[in-house]
Amino acid sequence: MDKLDPWGTSSIKDYSRLQTEFGIEPVAPLVSRFKKPSPHVRRGIDFGQRDLVRILDAVDHNKPYAVMSGIKPDGAFHLGNKMTADDIIYFQSLSKKAMVYYAIADVEAYADNGLSFAETSKTAVRNVADILALGLDPDHALVYKQSEEMRVMRMATVFSKGVTNNMLKAIYGERQIGLYLSALVQAGDILMPQLPELGGPKPVLVPVGADQDPHIRLSRDLAAKYDSEFGFFPPSAIYHRLELALTGGYKMSKRLPESGFTLDDSPTEAAKRVRSAFTGGRDTVEEQRRLGGRPQICPVYDLYPFHFAKDDEHVEKVYHECTKGIRLCGECKLEAVGLVKEFLEEHHRRRESLMKDAGELLTKSRNYLLATGK
Ligand code: SF4
Repeated sequence: MDKLDPWGTSSIKDYSRLQTEFGIEPVAPLVSRFKKPSPHVRRGIDFGQRDLVRILDAVDHNKPYAVMSGIKPDGAFHLGNKMTADDIIYFQSLSKKAMVYYAIADVEAYADNGLSFAETSKTAVRNVADILALGLDPDHALVYKQSEEMRVMRMATVFSKGVTNNMLKAIYGERQIGLYLSALVQAGDILMPQLPELGGPKPVLVPVGADQDPHIRLSRDLAAKYDSEFGFFPPSAIYHRLELALTGGYKMSKRLPESGFTLDDSPTEAAKRVRSAFTGGRDTVEEQRRLGGRPQICPVYDLYPFHFAKDDEHVEKVYHECTKGIRLCGECKLEAVGLVKEFLEEHHRRRESLMKDAGELLTKSRNYLLATGK
């Protein structure tokens, strides 16, 4: 059985088994409900969901819904953070009634990485500038630090009375208490948009990597348990596939810096990582021409559909040329390097111009949440 560990680095080998073992439903039957499906939805990168239909219904009927996610401020924005950010921004764009709640998970960064709140505070502004540069609409977004949002902390305290050590152990395995606490805080983040002072119960979508499902299951269990008190909707989720590490084998992870690159890296540094990446290529040119490459195990291939391909035809072209032995890994990497450099140069320009806005969004959100928190 694939073990889903939100704090680990292992990859998932068989996504279809997540349906039978954890009850994650496929996105594919719902694709026709989207007027303009995102690249992630079209390409099957967003492969799984729970109760996504609630969000699609809210979009169709112009009803309010929230998109809730966050970032652990333990360093620069990574490609995995970009994956989630792309989904947040897409689901925000589907309706003017959508509100994004973006948590700076500084409690988790303290529990998991030992980073002080002072350290993570500086990182947070840069992380927020990154998501703004990727396209987040600040007029429909609230960004807050977990440690400063007392509602989240209070809910974690309430929830702590409703769970036992055995329940947490069944979901997460044997972990230190700090990680269990941060999981309860995350449940507070996920359910907070449904509190009365923030508009009351409503559908909430959480876009996450498949490895984060334990947090979704815990939040849904808690929503059911506290339904009579709060009237919570069980949170909905959309799950994306985990990108392969450039070093091969594992999922890309901030814990393994060489496994990917960040949006802080210079185009030259990122290009170096891509050039030296593991590939699904064969041992010799002759073999590759005869047998074709293996995009299913190739992290260079992942860069195209996950992030940098110009359109769907481009993805299909890379896949076709790879599997038919038309393209060799050297030229494939060269093309990927060009796309990565182009993206990073533009992203750096945009982010630098948005640093001030990022600080202002944090302050504006804090003031708003303080005003509603009385
Ligand atoms: Fe990967 Fe490209 Fe080589 Fe195919 S040709 S195995 S996609 S690097």
